Amino acid sequence: MKTINGKLIATKLNSNLKSKVSYLKKKHKIQPKLVVILVGKNPASEVYVRNKSIKAAEVGIKSVIKRLDAKITEEEILKLISIYNQDNEIDGILVQLPIPMHIRSEKVIDSISFEKDVDGFNSKNIGLLALGRPHVIPCTPLGCLKLLQEELNLSGKDVIIIGRSNIVGKPLSLLLTSENATVTLAHSKTKNLKNLCRNKDVIIAATGIPKMVKKDWVNNKSIIIDVGINQILDNNKNKILVGDVDFASVFSKVKAITPVPGGVGPMTIHCLLQNTFDLALKRRNIKEV
Ligand code: NAD
Repeated sequence: MKTINGKLIATKLNSNLKSKVSYLKKKHKIQPKLVVILVGKNPASEVYVRNKSIKAAEVGIKSVIKRLDAKITEEEILKLISIYNQDNEIDGILVQLPIPMHIRSEKVIDSISFEKDVDGFNSKNIGLLALGRPHVIPCTPLGCLKLLQEELNLSGKDVIIIGRSNIVGKPLSLLLTSENATVTLAHSKTKNLKNLCRNKDVIIAATGIPKMVKKDWVNNKSIIIDVGINQILDNNKNKILVGDVDFASVFSKVKAITPVPGGVGPMTIHCLLQNTFDLALKRRNIKEV
């Protein structure tokens, strides 16, 4: 039993990235720039966006938060993204999800040019990931991969991912398949989920259901990656964050597990910044820093 300290790993990776950003600035007079588009006033999104911009500043990446009214039309967002696509100073464009229902998120995401699609969510980037020749790898899946690589060699390992969303489960299944893991992608219609989990080397939970994975779902060789971020009330009616895994009961049984908070979250932000940096280099055809 061991905690996989995502916060510490992300801090080390961010510090390494900071040196590279600083070198890029000195040698090429380039400072990577990220634009985050936030539509409406979703409190969780506000927190995520703020954390992203704080960490960007720490590693020396410029970041701008573009706040848009919840009533903005799809056409207006598309126009704005088209301006950002052509702005030579911008390296990465991210639309913080979810966005209001009257705007088609797939249309908006596909309008981000694939060279600046820092989240790696548009159809071309997901297609390239599926083909095993990624241009940008989505941040949370990439963060999960980096955490797993600290713990084991994925080749030939049995992995189950619970949750098949377009932003976590699906791209992660493609990514881990490319790493030669044998991947089961489970979802809300999967039967006998507990039994499917029991004999796996790796269990990744990404459902948004608080404490769903219990002690009798895991074994003593399991490595658990908990992607979930859920706000619940504790016994004293205080708001707390928990994952999709029942950490307290599972911890003593498994080989290793990520905590919530302090596991996948900081790695997602690190990967966003690394992707911004990588796109800044690729767009200018700079090979190595
Ligand atoms: P989503 O709601 O888009 O998808 C949830 C998935 O879980 C669906 O594929 C659904 O089929 C599956 N599911 C739901 N109920 C299930 C059940 N009973 N059994 C099996 N599968 C079930 O969610 P998402 O956007 O992928 O996010 C999942 C969780 O990860 C959320 O808690 C979210 O806050 C968190 N998240 C964390 C990060 C991070 O950086 N740590 C990033 C993205 C999302």
